[in-house]
Amino acid sequence: MKKPQLPDKRGYFGEFGGKFVPETLICALEELECAYREAKKDKRFKKKLKGYLSEYAGRPTPLYFARNLSQFLGMNIYLKREDLLHTGAHKINNTLGQILLAKFMGKRRIIAETGAGQHGVAVATVATLFGLKCDIYMGAEDIDRQKMNVFRMQVLGARVIPVESGTKTLKDACSEAIRDWVTNVRGTYYLLGSTVGPHPYPLIVRDFQSVIGREAKRQILKMEGKLPDYLVACVGGGSNSLGLFYPFFKQTEVKFIGVEAGGYGLGDYNAASLSCGGIGVLHGAKSYLLQDNGGQIKNTHSIAAGLDYPGVGPEHAFYKSSGRAQYVVVKDKQALEGFKLLSKLEGIIPALEPAHAIYYLKKLAKKAKGLLVVVCLSGRGDKDLNIIQKYK
Ligand SMILES: *Cc1c(COP(=O)(O)O)cnc(C)c1O
Repeated sequence: MKKPQLPDKRGYFGEFGGKFVPETLICALEELECAYREAKKDKRFKKKLKGYLSEYAGRPTPLYFARNLSQFLGMNIYLKREDLLHTGAHKINNTLGQILLAKFMGKRRIIAETGAGQHGVAVATVATLFGLKCDIYMGAEDIDRQKMNVFRMQVLGARVIPVESGTKTLKDACSEAIRDWVTNVRGTYYLLGSTVGPHPYPLIVRDFQSVIGREAKRQILKMEGKLPDYLVACVGGGSNSLGLFYPFFKQTEVKFIGVEAGGYGLGDYNAASLSCGGIGVLHGAKSYLLQDNGGQIKNTHSIAAGLDYPGVGPEHAFYKSSGRAQYVVVKDKQALEGFKLLSKLEGIIPALEPAHAIYYLKKLAKKAKGLLVVVCLSGRGDKDLNIIQKYK
């Protein structure tokens, strides 16, 4: 597959992506795009980001050969250990990149939205590090469910603003953050947490997360002398998966598998936008999303808070329609099994999000013996222990 320009100049991945936003934000998005293009060429910017990624966040992360799990499943499984990063997940790769971009643009205030609070914590962390004012929008319902993360953000000096509209969850927090940005666009930087939203966000977030795949490629070539047969990662908005996949885009012999959250598995009450959704526009971009017959966004459910979003990044929609990646669904119960499998066999407690990807390895193992697989272990499981306890 020839590598097309992804996205094209208008911000489209095939028919997906674009900028579906109010007039007042078009200018802000263009300013962001210009600044990003400049920053990308700026040697000092690159050096600074590299420095923070290594000395503050802990990159490069190891590519670990999971010997016990490999033996158990009859495959050769490598884990890309994003769980070892500062704050415990891959999100810091993106927030460090974007906070430096905000500084580069001379912005003094950061806003963001958060669902379970993981992105909020990663934003509060870097905002504090660089001394920028930080306001985080969070649904009132989520605030109630995620008290520890709210407290973490507050300890870090961020203001958490409750959102009382709609279902009082992530999608309402997104809408509120966009409203804030429209009003305060001059001095404020909107720091998006995944490969979603209007152009150029899906591009920017993917680029900052691509450090995962660049490292993994170098590491697997050094350790195995060849490229893997499969890359496997969980898909919420799509950033850890695209971070792993994108640097392998041209190597079509390397197959991509994105694992979506199937929720309870009762009816269609899930969060698998690509596997179960339709095409539409949500939060500024055209992509796959979960909507009912009247076009209303559905309430989603997943045991993994980070996968509990009714949309998905437009680049994944393009990978699906072009056949570059395959998307599969793993349910709550199966993710719990993946969680236990890795904890017991390798002494690594995964977050519930990548536990979906771990579970899928069991199915992949049935396809052929001895496959070489790299899995993105996007985060550690400490944050989920209280949920796991409830399922005992
Ligand atoms: C947020 C999160 C995800 C899902 O987000 P993506 O943008 O799809 O990567 C996955 N894993 C962990 C640990 C997370 O915190």
